[in-house]
Amino acid sequence: MQPKIIVVGSSNTDMVVKLPRLPSKGESIIGGEFVMPAGGKGANQAVAAARLGAHVAFVARLGNDMFGDQALAGFNAEGVNTAFIVRDDTAPSGVALIFVDTNGDNMLAVAPGANARLSPADVDKAEQAIASADALVLQLEIPLETVRHALRVARRHGVRTVLNPAPAQALPADVLALVDVLTPNEHEATLLCGQGKQTIEQAARLLRTMGVGTVVVTLGREGAMIVSAQGEQRVRGFTVKAVDTTAAGDAFTAALACALARGDSLPAAVRFANAVGALTVTTVGAQPSLPTAAEVQAFLASR
Ligand code: ADP
Repeated sequence: MQPKIIVVGSSNTDMVVKLPRLPSKGESIIGGEFVMPAGGKGANQAVAAARLGAHVAFVARLGNDMFGDQALAGFNAEGVNTAFIVRDDTAPSGVALIFVDTNGDNMLAVAPGANARLSPADVDKAEQAIASADALVLQLEIPLETVRHALRVARRHGVRTVLNPAPAQALPADVLALVDVLTPNEHEATLLCGQGKQTIEQAARLLRTMGVGTVVVTLGREGAMIVSAQGEQRVRGFTVKAVDTTAAGDAFTAALACALARGDSLPAAVRFANAVGALTVTTVGAQPSLPTAAEVQAFLASR
């Protein structure tokens, strides 16, 4: 059975210039190489789930410009249902301007554009699709009131909610209480519980007392840590040659939602998500690096 996933979130065009070193203020560096992969955390999650074989609908806003046209064509090519994507006549599509140097260090400037205008009313138009989904997947590159509203709609229909709380920001208690599965990285986990020195386990436990169902803290190459009503468990990551960690968290979250939707146990779903995250870091770019179901299967069979 194909899991049904609905993603509410951001879409960006990443404009990346690879440089020998990062420029300083007022400096021009000639000799860069330009690439323009599709990105945005919401779009990455939607495409990741589609490549893993899920039925995916994506609720988003794109500008009425060539970047929006290109993004839409990309989603259609991936088989993502775009019926709930709104073209915004007043704001441009979201873009991220990125410099990357040969060490992999980067500088980013993001203009959210139409993403900042994704509204609760846009979510309401997708209510039936949310109600019939196995999971609602979210991140934080859209207005918080829209995230909260989508969580409420899913909760009302008894649909599992999965939130990747990135980019890192503190969240109100009422939002956390609507989250079934939260997938922070270590930095986000500590920031979310607003306390200083503590272990990852302590941070995750605290988040559960704040109302989150299950916390899965992603630990980069180390894998992930589960803190749930059933107990606590580390699930080791896979050793790969990491080239670019962009979209690892997005791919991990989408994969976790897909695996839970098809009925995997939590540890098995996290192992699957670790494999998807590991494959994502082996190639450059956000969406170009997301693996297919067949690639994940072959990878797991080889380990
Ligand atoms: P984020 O990208 O959100 O900061 P992480 O760096 O924790 O999140 O990565 C998310 C997941 O991707 C990890 O839990 C792991 O499964 C996988 N991953 C990330 N980096 C690596 C790596 N270097 N080697 C293997 N797996 C990785």
